[in-house]
Amino acid sequence: MAYLQLSNIEKFFGDHHAIKGIDLQIEKGEFVVFVGPSGCGKSTLLRLIAGLETIDKGSLQLDRRDITALPSSKRDLAMVFQSYALYPHMSVFENMSFALKLAGVDRAVIREKVDKAAAILDLGKYLERTPKELSGGQRQRVAIGRAIVRDPKVFLFDEPLSNLDAALRVQTRIEIAKLHRELGATSIYVTHDQVEAMTLADRVVVLRDGQVEQHGSPLELYDRPANRFVAQFIGTPSMNVVPAAALPQLAALAGSAAHADGFVGIRPEHVKLDAPGQHGLAATVDMVESLGVETLVYARMENNVQIVSRGSERSALHPGDRTMLSFDLGKVHHFDRFGNTYAA
Ligand code: ATP
Repeated sequence: MAYLQLSNIEKFFGDHHAIKGIDLQIEKGEFVVFVGPSGCGKSTLLRLIAGLETIDKGSLQLDRRDITALPSSKRDLAMVFQSYALYPHMSVFENMSFALKLAGVDRAVIREKVDKAAAILDLGKYLERTPKELSGGQRQRVAIGRAIVRDPKVFLFDEPLSNLDAALRVQTRIEIAKLHRELGATSIYVTHDQVEAMTLADRVVVLRDGQVEQHGSPLELYDRPANRFVAQFIGTPSMNVVPAAALPQLAALAGSAAHADGFVGIRPEHVKLDAPGQHGLAATVDMVESLGVETLVYARMENNVQIVSRGSERSALHPGDRTMLSFDLGKVHHFDRFGNTYAA
């Protein structure tokens, strides 16, 4: 049995079937990230694990113990919220030590644990401050520190970085990755952010409409999506996916006319733009986005289908310019008419 085992978990909110029978096995030390579109049930699933919502059906086992019906406080889990949820009138030290104090832990032991967590998180100088005297990033580190001192079996993170500005997000993300390397703690992390998912996860779980679409390492999902939904959800900008009939030369690679009613997909980095007259498919540039490190060019083929290309070179193209699209034929994905991947 896995360290944390979800067996056929279901959740209803009134008539709304929010979680539809989820099975998932999480190993000790694993960093698992839940992703999916808004409303797919990521937070609900995390809250069911945390014990903040009741499980309507199915069971949850942690370290060979059934915790399905246990109250949150007895589950030996620690949750880090987007809103930090710190006690405003308490100092950093008091915030971090509160749970241990309640549990009757010896003062010297508390001091040692808080000092150790503060050292890991670089919070040593702030222990006497209150949350309002800290930056957003520091507050979130206190919230993480509060989880660490409890030495929980599993860390649960609900979009912990979404209130931070871009630079702080990157920095805190790197700290969370480092923390995971140092502590080897089993972690489940909910995010909207693709970069967080790809960089933090040992395994990404893609949810859709209360069900698991696919789970795997970040690169497995990127390179071998099980279906069109995952293919287009993982990666920014999204994979180009068009009806096979719109790109017959790519569809033909799959070698079967039976899939003419399916779809072909190609990631933007596998689409090249050439000067008019060269080999390829004629297209007209719709839009150019120069991001410094890369350039995205949206071009429309003669059949009116838009394709996005991504390259590391600066582009001299402008809207209205003619170009030729060519594709890295070894990188084409093929989907049947239901959107499931099939091997060419
Ligand atoms: P987001 O990315 O927008 O935070 P999410 O994937 O985390 O979305 P959840 O918050 O888990 O989604 O919600 C899943 C579904 O359950 C949504 O349709 C939501 O409206 C519904 N839902 C969540 N909590 C409740 C609740 N307490 N009462 C009723 N419906 C709820």
